[in-house]
Amino acid sequence: MPLDNGFGARATLPITDHAALGEALEAGNLQTLLMVYVHISRDEAMLDRFARHLTNPYAAPSDLPSDLVGELREKLFALLTQDPPPAIAPLPAELMKRMMSVGVGETVADEFVPLMMEQAGFEAPLSRLSKAGRNRPPADFKVLVIGAGMAGLAAAIKLGDAGYSFEIVEKNSEVGGTWYENVYPGVGVDTPSHFYSLSFAQYPDWNNYHPRGRDMQAYLVGVADRFDLRRYIRFGTRVKAMRWDDVRKLWAVTIADAHGEHTVEASAVINGHGPANRWKLPDIPGIESFQGPAMHTADWDPTIDLKGKRVVVIGTGASGAQVVASLASEVAHLTVFQRSKHWVMKNPEYVNDVTEPVKWALRHVPQYMPWFRFRAFWFASDGLYKWVKMDPAWEGNPLAISQANEDARQYALAGMAGVLGHRPDVLEKITPDFPIFSKRIVLDAGYLAALGRDNVDIETGGIERIVADGVVTKDGRKVPADAIIFATGFKIAKMSGDLDIVGRKGRSLGDEWGEEDPRAYLGTTMEGFPNLFWVVGPNSVPNHAGGHNLIVEGHIHYIVEALDMMVEKGARAIEPTKEAFDAYNVKVDGDLKSMVWSHPKARSYYRNSRGRVYLSCPYRLVDMWTLLRVPIAADYRFHFPGDNKGGPGSPSV
Ligand SMILES: Cc1cc2nc3c(=O)[nH]c(=O)nc-3n(C[C@H](O)[C@H](O)[C@H](O)COP(=O)(O)OP(=O)(O)OC[C@H]3O[C@@H](n4cnc5c(N)ncnc54)[C@H](O)[C@@H]3O)c2cc1C
Repeated sequence: MPLDNGFGARATLPITDHAALGEALEAGNLQTLLMVYVHISRDEAMLDRFARHLTNPYAAPSDLPSDLVGELREKLFALLTQDPPPAIAPLPAELMKRMMSVGVGETVADEFVPLMMEQAGFEAPLSRLSKAGRNRPPADFKVLVIGAGMAGLAAAIKLGDAGYSFEIVEKNSEVGGTWYENVYPGVGVDTPSHFYSLSFAQYPDWNNYHPRGRDMQAYLVGVADRFDLRRYIRFGTRVKAMRWDDVRKLWAVTIADAHGEHTVEASAVINGHGPANRWKLPDIPGIESFQGPAMHTADWDPTIDLKGKRVVVIGTGASGAQVVASLASEVAHLTVFQRSKHWVMKNPEYVNDVTEPVKWALRHVPQYMPWFRFRAFWFASDGLYKWVKMDPAWEGNPLAISQANEDARQYALAGMAGVLGHRPDVLEKITPDFPIFSKRIVLDAGYLAALGRDNVDIETGGIERIVADGVVTKDGRKVPADAIIFATGFKIAKMSGDLDIVGRKGRSLGDEWGEEDPRAYLGTTMEGFPNLFWVVGPNSVPNHAGGHNLIVEGHIHYIVEALDMMVEKGARAIEPTKEAFDAYNVKVDGDLKSMVWSHPKARSYYRNSRGRVYLSCPYRLVDMWTLLRVPIAADYRFHFPGDNKGGPGSPSV
């Protein structure tokens, strides 16, 4: 029986292209090949023989006998080519857990098994429509989704799968969101390719181990096409406002398109307008007076040729570092203005291409893709949680919070010195004096090497003003510039963005959250705002690693569960109780105190000006995933048809 490898690739046994298989077995990741072999053969003795060598999660095994490796390849080759082929049956949870642990060289606890069964793709998702005894959503219950980025597309797929009628409203003319808009040179994803995608739409053909922006965009376009989503999307249309009608139990949503403003009605709204979809320019005097091209990284004009120009880059976060790495060798001179320092970490895989034999394995070898995705997940997400959780007994360097965090700091320091050892002046300017991971790190795709170049300067003294032909520093020097690039980030703290949202009793979400203090229950629902669901809202961003995709999927699953629960009860709307909402937020605030983002020296966009961490999730992905399986009915209040006939905005039940 052929297995669906996603995007049309089929892993079919027996494999008949022996030459390609041979190459794939030579090039493939060894631990993944071992897992594939044990998965299909159940030869646990082989697992034991490898286990004693695979003990360091962060280093390749140095003492692996080459004949053992050769034996594995031979056995796997025989298994995959045998005719008739072996049957691939689901494995017991205990064996899966053991294999996962051997594969990553450290213990993978029980709680990860269900998460990985779903997320790695070991289990095909079951359609809700096939669930026995489930109530079908009422035909007149319509869900409006804001945004056709990763979140909106995932919402559409799962709403359709559950039988909800829905529509997506998207301000752009294409899907993709972040990856459609961010086309600056060097744009890329820090989270590994084989993890940063939807578990139910896995893709075997990534070109790099971390996707370039254009490949990410191509993937999302592929998702929209594969699931035939375009017919549900109203492109070129912006959601501006929404008002809850407590009598009719629906949202009146104001949308604007080329023809003007209209109101549409929706029973529920899922907001996937993106955490980083609203870019910001810095507040620098004279910014308007610059005569050359000046652009934000998220508003890039690809027609502008910067070759041979004197370019200023303002900002050294992830986008700034990517653009600097990409432009340094082609411009005449680059001046980088750094306002605050960042930890820069090398990741040997960051710039590596995925070779054709490895892509072939992902496409054609059964179980290779899920086992490889599991591996990518582990080393990019919860495997890193120990780096951000404070050890209360830690008495070491005050710039660290635990031994693991100190080890990561030393690794980063060594990496930075390794590239810039010959430039102690630059190293001094960029080496942070705060714990690593207390703000977003920069993964080095050539940034450090660029800073060491003769045609690149880094300025740290601050900007006084921008003038027609350059930038004047606080100490009075003028840096001449033909072009300025603002890598100055996004308006993340104002999470409601430009949306004017009025819930029950006339409550304004924009007023309640203000400029920088958003709160939600489990990062997705808000008391006073029935049937409004945020995707990756307050305190749900997994800042210990990456994996927006995982919280997107967790939230969408939860939202559909919540809607199903509402339908089951015969209700028309659902919102968290004030008690549950408040208790959750008190807990989150308390739990954040032991996270690196709350360290006294931490300064980042994860925190607001009062020091509250509003963005980061203090929990591991597995914790959030588990919490998001099923809503707790007692934490919710259900609104029924006929409740509250006193007119819009009048007191509810
Ligand atoms: C440069 C960059 C790099 C990133 N790297 C990583 C990473 O390595 N790992 C990681 O986990 N996360 C990363 N992120 C964060 C996050 O994963 C991405 O931003 C992700 O694409 C967000 O998906 P989304 O669907 O939630 O939002 P978006 O991709 O922002 O999509 C939102 C969509 O909503 C539309 N929209 C917005 N407002 C309205 C409106 N009022 N009406 C109608 N449509 C609207 C937008 O046009 C857009 O299409 C990165 C973000 C950026 C900007």
